[in-house]
Amino acid sequence: MANYLKRPQGTEDVTPARIHKWKTVETVTRAVAESFGFSEIRIPTFEVTELFQRSVGETTDVVQKEMYSVIARETQFTLRPEGTAGTIRAMLQNGMLAEALPQKVFYQLSCFRHERPQAGRLREFHQFGVELAGAASPYADAEIILLGKTVLDRLGLKDIVLNINSIGCPKCRAAYQAALRAYFEPHREALCETCQERLVRNPMRLLDCKSKEDQAIAKDAPVILDYLCEECSAHFEAVKSALTDMGVEYVINPKIVRGLDYYTKTVFEFITNCIGAQGTVCAGGRYDGLIEQLGGQPIPALGFGMGLERLILTMESQECAFMEQQRCEVYLAPMDDSAKPTALRYANALREMGVRAEFDLVGRSFKAQMKYANNIGTKYLVVLGSNELEQGRGQLKNMETGKQTEIRLDTAEHFTADYSDISLTDQFGE
Ligand code: ATP
Ligand code: MG
Repeated sequence: MANYLKRPQGTEDVTPARIHKWKTVETVTRAVAESFGFSEIRIPTFEVTELFQRSVGETTDVVQKEMYSVIARETQFTLRPEGTAGTIRAMLQNGMLAEALPQKVFYQLSCFRHERPQAGRLREFHQFGVELAGAASPYADAEIILLGKTVLDRLGLKDIVLNINSIGCPKCRAAYQAALRAYFEPHREALCETCQERLVRNPMRLLDCKSKEDQAIAKDAPVILDYLCEECSAHFEAVKSALTDMGVEYVINPKIVRGLDYYTKTVFEFITNCIGAQGTVCAGGRYDGLIEQLGGQPIPALGFGMGLERLILTMESQECAFMEQQRCEVYLAPMDDSAKPTALRYANALREMGVRAEFDLVGRSFKAQMKYANNIGTKYLVVLGSNELEQGRGQLKNMETGKQTEIRLDTAEHFTADYSDISLTDQFGE
């Protein structure tokens, strides 16, 4: 196949056969976020590169290795690798942080990272994310985590373990970074090249390294929880007790440091072991320093990102229910050209009533139309022949039960009156 006919590596097409899975996660994430009082925000697909360097951080994999950047008319832009930086930029630029706080927004967007493609790791992927700006309370941390958990529950997912940790504030982290440096220094030669540099610039990042050798070296590294200052420690205790109050189970995992530099205090991941090595379906935490670092007021904030592809993979592996695939409800089969105007008229009358109606557009023979109606899985079929037109009556055939009901074809009102059992709402409220 010619190269231009192949989609770029690490990208996916979502064909109509799979779109109902996407609609399921999009509908549920939106409904849950709105029920928590979050409003949707839409931001550009690309930003000035410096935004990500300043927020995500110079020592992260994302900025060091994974950005898609272009220079256009002398300005360097980058396709967003995540949603937080652009969202905070938008809050600042639109004066949202000068309004009553907290600001609570959610988004569903594509992200771009130049990674090695594998199951659950793409170069273009999609995130549902939430950001909450202007709340320092540990209840905000618990609320965000509960929002993520509600989404997972609502989608019917099971056995997803909530891992939490606190990575403290810059104050407690200084002592911790020093302890990490002392621990890793004797192993310097054995570390991967990136980690040798991290050892100098940001040793905590070493704990996030994906290399098996480095992970083995990091096994007995000092644990941040032993270095938390009084305030961070009290905050973490309060988050844990709020989670316990709400019946949210968690495990404490001191290895969770998150790949992005802007996190402080609480960090968390929801992890499944159903989809292989890339099992983090949702990851987030508090980033109290970010807004100030980008030139705003010192406003505490927090949020998470949920990978929609990984969510769908997990749902598939656990055989969770998706929304029903869209299908034809009433198929009108004109037997010859003279019945087509009637088919067109009634199809439209049905659509006005919210019924999905179709009729033959390609001049199939009667037999071929029957076969086609079956293939598209229509719920009802109406044959329009000369008899039916003359008598002004036809048969509405339920394709599942085979049951036929006589219907009047003389007025659209009568025609549509028999469709009360076609329900356009399903379990997802669509
Ligand atoms: P990982 O450790 O898997 O590389 P990360 O720390 O880079 O993750 P975040 O930046 O926190 O990930 O992104 C939030 C979520 O987005 C992840 O938990 C995951 O569900 C999803 N995600 C991240 N990168 C990818 C990717 N390349 N392909 C698909 N989903 C991704
Ligand atoms: Mg990553």
